[in-house]
Amino acid sequence: MGSKLLSSTLDCSPQSELVEELLHTICDNSPVGIYVLQDRRFQYVNPKFVELTRYSKDELLGMDAIGLVLLEDRSMVRESAIEMLKGKRFYPYEFRAINKAGEPRWIIATVSSIHYRGSRAVLGNYMDITERKRAEEALQAEKNKLQSLVDALEYGLTTQDKDYNIIYQNTLVRRIFGDHLGEKCYRIYEGRDKLCDRCPVKKAFGDGKSHTSVRRVVMPSGEVNFWENTANPIRDAGGRMVSCLEVNRDITERRKQEQALADELTRRRLLIDESLDGIVVLDVDANVVEANQSFAEMLGYTLEEVRELHTWDWDKNFPPKKILEMGRNIDEKGLHLETEHTRKDGSIIDVDISINGTMCGGQKLFFCVCRDITKRKQAEEALKASRASFHNIVEMSADGVVVTDSNGVIRFVNQALESLLNHKADELMGEMFDFPVVAGETTEIDIVRRDGKPGMAEMRVVETKWDGETAYLASVRDITERKQVEEKLRELDHMKSELISNISHELRSPLHATQGFTKLMLQKKVPDPETQEEFLAIIDEQIERLGNLIDDLLDMSRFEAGRFSIQKRRTSVRDVIHDAVGSFDCLAKEKGLAINEDIPASLPGIEADEERLKQVMINLLSNAIKFRQDSSPIMVKAENRGSELLVQVIDHGIGIPTEAMSHLFEKFYRARDTMARGGTGLGLYISKQIIEAHGGRIWAESKPGKGSTFYFTIPKLKQKRKKIGEILVADGLITPQQLEEKLRKQQDGEYRP
Ligand code: ADP
Repeated sequence: MGSKLLSSTLDCSPQSELVEELLHTICDNSPVGIYVLQDRRFQYVNPKFVELTRYSKDELLGMDAIGLVLLEDRSMVRESAIEMLKGKRFYPYEFRAINKAGEPRWIIATVSSIHYRGSRAVLGNYMDITERKRAEEALQAEKNKLQSLVDALEYGLTTQDKDYNIIYQNTLVRRIFGDHLGEKCYRIYEGRDKLCDRCPVKKAFGDGKSHTSVRRVVMPSGEVNFWENTANPIRDAGGRMVSCLEVNRDITERRKQEQALADELTRRRLLIDESLDGIVVLDVDANVVEANQSFAEMLGYTLEEVRELHTWDWDKNFPPKKILEMGRNIDEKGLHLETEHTRKDGSIIDVDISINGTMCGGQKLFFCVCRDITKRKQAEEALKASRASFHNIVEMSADGVVVTDSNGVIRFVNQALESLLNHKADELMGEMFDFPVVAGETTEIDIVRRDGKPGMAEMRVVETKWDGETAYLASVRDITERKQVEEKLRELDHMKSELISNISHELRSPLHATQGFTKLMLQKKVPDPETQEEFLAIIDEQIERLGNLIDDLLDMSRFEAGRFSIQKRRTSVRDVIHDAVGSFDCLAKEKGLAINEDIPASLPGIEADEERLKQVMINLLSNAIKFRQDSSPIMVKAENRGSELLVQVIDHGIGIPTEAMSHLFEKFYRARDTMARGGTGLGLYISKQIIEAHGGRIWAESKPGKGSTFYFTIPKLKQKRKKIGEILVADGLITPQQLEEKLRKQQDGEYRP
């Protein structure tokens, strides 16, 4: 093949040897692949083309050229080649070819129309640009990476040329200000018509260095932000500054934080300065680093003086060694203590201190907050004292006091309550209180008193606090006596109304009788003088009864008013009794009633109010008669009993119920089952007053259904001082012979029984 083929194929006639030689040399040595196609098949390929396709020359010749093109690019290649051949395209086209090894290669090609061996043919140039393409792709990838980086930046990036026209904006800037390439930066970013003062871009253009400024920017949204703008020169390959890159950082947040920090500092400063607590900052050697006014005032120094002090100057409780040792151990967890501070004038104050240690500027410092608690301490002492006295008051209170928690568990009892509930405090504490406590209520509760007898108490409950928790305080007052008095009063009331009806009855019946008999006589309805005498006797008796009743009432009121007196004179009990019994003669006779007397004739005399004593006797006898059963006799006895005389009135009547015994001598008292027999309940009461006025005693014994005995004593007349023996003889206790014998035995004269 070689030059001969080429000269024939190129059809360059008239060809000289030289031209052919030349073409041969050009084609064979061309760095570009060259081929000739006819009917789309290779008619000529140069060595470079062979090299690029990796096929052999023989394999290529006659091969359909499109077979070398990657399937996806074939139609584009056909279209581009046709356009080029038609003269409509003047620049080469690029596509991917597949070489014999199956590797895709980027190719740049041109085609032109020629005559070859007498027919039309296509002359093709074929250059492998795979390496360049790869470099371009790598570059693009690099560019993309850079772009992502720029896009990811939180900074705004904008580039201005020397005329301050914007020639680049990154995504952030575009997002905020919009797309403004080609426009003046001061107009877009600052809304001005001319360059801004202290424009860093201008400065960078001026000296070729980097410049930064902070600007207040009103954002398109109207929001005011602060931007820190740094202008950096961009230079061309020759080092000339061609544009300026401006990096914009939004420092609004940082500014706010700085401002907040500054405000915080001011606030803290104020807090420290204005604090009522004394604040002092110390270093590890216990020197004052800083102190506030309150601290200085607390110690009575000026601030300047305080700054010259050490802890031990004001705290005598902690010597320097101890303070320094404490300082080493205090950390941020701190220390809390109470101590005393010595003021400049030597006075002592109680202080509560909180100390915290912290590192500050590479140095360990101690922040001490000191509070003057002298007043608080005094108040605490006063409170303690008042609590103690309150405690005493509560303890000494006559009322029982109990405190329970909200569940009714006893937390406190005073002494009075121990007595009321008949239990010791330690038996009650922690136990449930037996009674329901309801705040604001007053209730009556049954109690067992110390003597084991049942009683009544009034309980008032209020809500209170005990150890900071809701509790109930109940004050319990023993009202047993009050209740008894109330009961008594009720009974008295009842008795009074009974008395009124009794008295009316007692008054009415003699009145009626008197009136009845008087009327009969006035109407001359009396048959004979004997009957009239009988009537008059009845009238007389009834009037006497009336008089007695009125006397009783008058006596009672005299006793009540303390105006009762007796007129004593020497008399004989025997006579008085006899007299009294005598006054019942008629009645006795009439009713077949016997009143027997057993009174020794030797009874000694007494000093007494005869009338009153007789009144007692008549009362006892009339009761014995009134309450008699059938006609059993009544016995009156008198006897000598030591220094007194004992008188007994014995009946075998209905007797007195046991429960009535203790009330017999109370005024207006009448045993229930004797009511029907009339009476005022005053007789025994008056008798008791009379006997006691004589220095004697009166009492009764009775067996219900069997009868009663009423006793009273009257002191005997005081005799001139006699030897005991003579008294015993006089009293009839021993005979004169017995006395003589005793005296003989006791030579010292006076007899001791
Ligand atoms: P009065 O006889 O007018 O009722 P007293 O004071 O003399 O008042 O007596 C008080 C009460 O004592 C009587 O009502 C009666 O219940 C009781 N009492 C007194 N004496 C006797 C007695 N001999 N037998 C039974 N009960 C008596």
